[in-house]
This record gives sequence, C-alpha cells and structure tokens, in this order.
Amino acid sequence: MTTSLTFPDKNEGRGVDRRRLLKGAAALAATGATMKAASAATVTPFGQTGAPTPLTDPLPLGPLPGSRYPDSHLESLKKPRVSFGPAGFPAFAGTMAVERVATGFRWAEGPVYFPAGRYVLFSDIPNNRIMRFSEDDAHLSVFRQPSMNSNGNTIDREGRLITCEHSGRRVTRTELDGSITIIADKYNGKKLNSPNDAVVTSDGAIWFTDPVYGIGGYYEGVKAEPEQEKHNVYRVDPKTGDVKVVVDDFVEPNGVGLSPDEKKLYVCDTGFTDGPDNPSHIRVFDLDVGAGKVSNSKVFAEMPKPSITDGVRCDTAGRVWCSVGWGDPNEDGVRCYTPDGDMLGKIHIPETVANLCFGGQQRNRLYICGSSSLYAVYTSAQGAMKP
Ligand code: MG
Repeated sequence: MTTSLTFPDKNEGRGVDRRRLLKGAAALAATGATMKAASAATVTPFGQTGAPTPLTDPLPLGPLPGSRYPDSHLESLKKPRVSFGPAGFPAFAGTMAVERVATGFRWAEGPVYFPAGRYVLFSDIPNNRIMRFSEDDAHLSVFRQPSMNSNGNTIDREGRLITCEHSGRRVTRTELDGSITIIADKYNGKKLNSPNDAVVTSDGAIWFTDPVYGIGGYYEGVKAEPEQEKHNVYRVDPKTGDVKVVVDDFVEPNGVGLSPDEKKLYVCDTGFTDGPDNPSHIRVFDLDVGAGKVSNSKVFAEMPKPSITDGVRCDTAGRVWCSVGWGDPNEDGVRCYTPDGDMLGKIHIPETVANLCFGGQQRNRLYICGSSSLYAVYTSAQGAMKP
C-alpha cells in the first residue's frame, strides 16, 4: 500500500553502513546468505535490469537471529506463556520457528499460494512485478513484470489468479492459458480508485476493496484523481459480472478475509493513514454469500495506533490472523485472534508487515510479506481457504 505515512529509507533502522553498499556483489558473496541473495539477484533484485546492484545488503535468509527453540518470535498471550501447545498459543509446536525465505524487494504485499505448483505469488509493488517463491527448492523468480503495480492477489475456486492492480485501477483474472481478463475497472461508469485486496467466495463472486493508496503518487502506481467519491468494498457477480457496492462507509478499506464457513467477512480499515482520528482496525460482517450481501458490521479488533493492519486470513478453526506494521516496531508482525476477537498471540517480524497467506501442502505454513522480505513459519493451524 502507498500511504500518507513516509516510507522509511531502506537503510534506516537497520544499522547499514552505506559505505558497504558500494562494495557490490563481490563483497556480498562472502556469506552463505548472500549465495541465496545472489540467486535472487539473477531475477533483477529491486527491479533493475542488467548486473545486480543491490541498494542495500540483502537481509540474511534462514531462521531469524535468536530463534533458539522455542522461538521467541512466537509470543503466546495465554497462560502458561511458556507453552506453544494447546494450553498456550494453540497454533505452534515448540520446534516451529520464523524464517526469512526470500528478500530483496522494495515493498512486498498480496501473497497467495498455488497448491498445484507449490509456489507463493506476491507483489513487489514499487518494482512493478509479481514474484514467485517455489517452496520445494526455495527458488525465487519473477512471475510477471510489469504487473501494473499489482497489490493483492488471491486464487479462485478454479485455481486462477485474481489480482488487484494499482496502475491498472482494476481487478484482473489470469486464465489457465495465461491470458488476462479484466474483471472490474469501473463502477457507475467511472474508474475505480486502486483495487487493493480481494477474496473469492465459493459461488465465484469476487469481493474487493478500493482505497486510494495506489493513485496517490508514482511510486506504487500512477498518480490520479479519484473518480469514486467513496472508498468502497465491491462484489463482482459471478454470473453477470456486475460490480456492486457492498459497503460504502470505510475510510480506507484494505485487506479482506473470509471465515472458513463463509459466514463472516473481515475487512481492514487503514484510514488512520489519512488522519489520527480515523480507524485502525478490522471490521467483521455477517456474510450472506447467496444474497451477495453483508450486514451487522462490528469492530472485530483494534490495532495499536499508529500501527495498522493491512491483511487478514482465517484458519480452519476460524481464528483470525492479521498483519501489523507501520507503528511500534515491537508490534510489527502478525496477530492471531479467536473468532470472538480474543487475542491469542503474536508473531514478531523484524520489518513492517503488510499481508499474509497460508500455504504449504497441508496449508499449514504461514507466508508473511514483510517490507523487503518474505517470511514463513510452519504452524499447527491450517488455512481456511481452499482453491
Ligand atoms: Mg493491502
């Protein structure tokens, strides 16, 4: 997302000595971690062409520093706190740890897992590309560039990629033959703002959010005046293709998620980016898939301002996992809530986190887009969404 917040210089806060940046790839080849980075470099890190010239030292891949079991990045808020089993944060075993599995991006967001290919796709928005991380051999490659500054990605029930595009100001579907179909680019004859995130219900309807982050400048899209007065949540009818507003009172609707029974729709409001009195929370709605409507809006979870939550996913038990970032670094990461909104625990990530998805052959590996890197952690939970 592009926000009104100032995107930090990539060198800030990491203790990076700028002089080291000039040493280039030769110096980077000195560690095993940079071997992985060099592999990533073959796919033009930071979107550059030609010889790879990273702007910063790529962060080391592998388990995060200090992740002796039990990994201190997995914080249980339930007693006994030492337990990561059923009595504590009921989503982790003691031998599960957070790993950085890929790095070298400017702003990673919108992950989606494709079980048939065992890979994760995610957007690197400023670099105008969709990346692919293959989990069988940890290979990183470019899936699509240019990507129209894509942001949120999801998968429909037929295994097709659904993508929200900032500079395209549209939602697209990548067909099984690779061709791209425009699903939605207008409402009431006017251009959408900049679709941000989407989910697909079992009837094939596509629900997406349309804040203005992607048209605020030229970094994560193309600057433009919004044509939609309100920043809506929309539904695309699976039969007619009609685009209709389902919620119109968000400040900035952002990440979306579905409960496993499809009776709840979760939508993040990151309106705090537009003003300190605006929301920074997740709302939950009763969802009627058949009627194509939502009702009974409630605030599900408040975020600790100035942090915001940009993405949300549910597991098969109905627990709600959401991203946290942009505020207190101690809050950067992921939160996990019961379906009733009781916070169970946190995953601490050393970067601002945008979005997340479940993947893995058992849908038990949580992939986390954290600024410059893709993180992953195996869990005892399973993601709710089936392709
Ligand atoms: Mg988003």
